[in-house]
Amino acid sequence: PPAPVGWNWDHSYTRLPEIFFTPTLPTRVPAPGLAILNRPLAGALGLDAGALEKAADIFAGNEIPPGSEPIAQAYAGHQFGNFTNLGDGRAILLGEHLAPSGIRSDIQLKGPGRTRYSRGGDGRATLGPMLREYIISEAMHALGIPTTRSLAVATTGEEIFRNEFLPGAVLTRVAASHIRVGTFQYAAAHEDLPALTALADHTLKRHFPELAGSGTRYFDFFEAVMDRQASLIARWLCVGFIHGVMNTDNMALSGETIDYGPCAFMDDYDPETVFSSIDRYGRYAYDKQPQIARWNLARLAETLLPLFHEDQNIAIDLANDALGSFEARFQAYWLLGMRSKLGLFTAEKEDAALVQELLDWMHANHQDFTNTFRSLSSASSIAEPPFIDAAFLAWHEKWTARLGRQPATTAEVVEKMRAHNPVVIPRNHKVEQALDTAIKGDLTVTHRLLEILTNPYADSAPPEYTTPPPQGGAAYQTFCGT
Ligand code: AMP
Ligand code: MG
Ligand code: MG
Repeated sequence: PPAPVGWNWDHSYTRLPEIFFTPTLPTRVPAPGLAILNRPLAGALGLDAGALEKAADIFAGNEIPPGSEPIAQAYAGHQFGNFTNLGDGRAILLGEHLAPSGIRSDIQLKGPGRTRYSRGGDGRATLGPMLREYIISEAMHALGIPTTRSLAVATTGEEIFRNEFLPGAVLTRVAASHIRVGTFQYAAAHEDLPALTALADHTLKRHFPELAGSGTRYFDFFEAVMDRQASLIARWLCVGFIHGVMNTDNMALSGETIDYGPCAFMDDYDPETVFSSIDRYGRYAYDKQPQIARWNLARLAETLLPLFHEDQNIAIDLANDALGSFEARFQAYWLLGMRSKLGLFTAEKEDAALVQELLDWMHANHQDFTNTFRSLSSASSIAEPPFIDAAFLAWHEKWTARLGRQPATTAEVVEKMRAHNPVVIPRNHKVEQALDTAIKGDLTVTHRLLEILTNPYADSAPPEYTTPPPQGGAAYQTFCGT
């Protein structure tokens, strides 16, 4: 008999009122094949990687693992500011797997065929974008940023039409949950207070169990969600990540980065960087991300007003006060991250200005964000400026004077900087190269890239992974994950 995979299913989400989901089976595909399996993640989940190697039928949706109760989740959301009813149009949740560690994870198939929420779509996904999500989500995890993970990509044997015929694929996504701001908007749009309360209780228990006993728990919950988002967006900015489509349905209450569509990492520092072809007005540009997070959180607060206080005027005041603290929370996390990138152990009033001056210099001189910070992260760069124009020399003098005003040794400074300034990020041209060869059936470039990206702070990366693209990558465009 085959070795057991080790699934340990629970289905707490389906104990919510039934407006929140629709039981849905994946659509059969002609020829399941396993393109890639995340063995370390399988191990962390307590699953047998050897057994999963033979589980292409499960990863392509042809076989439902015993104990799974597949559903499509309902949600709504503001897409580029416009409210719409959405739902899993091309995703099916197999259930929640309980790892031996006790951690509960959603196991979701992305691209397994049509659901009740597919509208005009085919419910399918293609190999390039699914491998792209796999690569970037695993890179984000290795960078220490909260994110959904990728367990596997399976090919389906189908050709999917997207202006041209492309190989069909299904991604298995692992998430703390798939509860989004849009899930709460969906509940609020139903004007169903018991359903909204059930969703809030479920989410609170699942992601913020420490708040469950509080008399002001729904408000505390909102503040805690807000705090996680402030921290998450600050982490994105510290590595040059641009999500690209921060619609309210793509913001997870768990605080994980979710929905890798048109996202990309910036090469040359430019705060207005936008990669997404559909983001014509730069709504989701690099430096807009904190503001957009706050806007999305305001939409979440609106849904929770009935739970904040029975007097809605008081509830609104509470929400506004909380939202008013977002900017300061974000700033604090951003400064914490940036201080680490500059090797600062203490806090001084002028630190934010010191960081800004370096960023402005990078912007004016078309310097690579990742490589600039990493090139500063050595004893020799502290002793001798690695760039020699006058503006940089002036900044370097201020920075080293600042380093001199803290008790840390140079070795301690360098150690901190090397732990916070990655050598490698998923450079767009390297990701494209991996996907191009993968679509032709050769995954060796993808495996090599993943190996490099899962060790982002090590100096061992060959130069081809650290060299910025020509023109600092400014011309790169991304398309919504299809
Ligand atoms: P996204 O922009 O990836 O957040 O997707 C927005 C909505 O479009 C979600 O409800 C998706 O489920 C849905 N969607 C995206 N692609 C497809 C597809 N190929 N078929 C059906 N629904 C889709
Ligand atoms: Mg989405
Ligand atoms: Mg998407």
